[in-house]
Amino acid sequence: MSQVEPEPEPEFRGILPGTKSSSFYSWRKPGMRVTDFPTVQSYIEYITDMFMDSIDPTSKIQPEIPASLYAVPSPIQQQTWLYYNMRHFVMEIGQLAGELDTICTIQTCPKMKATNEWQFLCSSHPKATECCAIDYTTHTIEAILSLLDSRQLFPNRDVISTKSNDTFNSMARRLYRIFAHVYFNHRNVYDEFESRTRLCDRYTAFCRQFSLVPEDNFKEELEKRKGPSSTTSSTSSGSSFPSIHSKRHR
Ligand SMILES: [Zn+2]
Ligand SMILES: [Zn+2]
Repeated sequence: MSQVEPEPEPEFRGILPGTKSSSFYSWRKPGMRVTDFPTVQSYIEYITDMFMDSIDPTSKIQPEIPASLYAVPSPIQQQTWLYYNMRHFVMEIGQLAGELDTICTIQTCPKMKATNEWQFLCSSHPKATECCAIDYTTHTIEAILSLLDSRQLFPNRDVISTKSNDTFNSMARRLYRIFAHVYFNHRNVYDEFESRTRLCDRYTAFCRQFSLVPEDNFKEELEKRKGPSSTTSSTSSGSSFPSIHSKRHR
């Protein structure tokens, strides 16, 4: 009977209590590499969980999203990194959409808009359509998941052509509008979800890092160009701002 060598103790790769969030990612770097994971997707889940664990939802001041969070890990190709992150973000945005259940309806939000000046058409149809906000949200999530699953568009996920850049840009822009809608129209849902997940902050950091969404699409820019409120409940002068001023974007 042969002697079986005892398995060596696995190297500790967690975060010790009291680790400062600033030293958190420096710990991750040499510790866990993407090649330590069975899939790129599982590595992204890991770094996302690590980041989530560093969030104190009760704190008023949240740390900046570290640039290292979405740095392309060697030896992964940038397009592959974009692909898997996009996939992960769509899933997370699906959770945000779940929070809108019964809150965002065809009655509350018959149009997909950010501010009153920015209304968006839904491109998830053969011809861009004016879907209500919750339909835009679900149609966009479903359409993007099916694009990501397309073997025609992405036959080999380890080697993705830079020709896919336009596809990623379009996906990223359409998904960002969901955040803009929630931010400007369901602020309490946005704030509560964001305090738990920093999803919009992370997604914005990711989009900026890879120039996926034009700067003037981000909510801070939309806020700056926001006109006076045009709520229909106004009883004063009746000079509401008609939707003919709306800019419609595909
Ligand atoms: Zn809504
Ligand atoms: Zn639609």
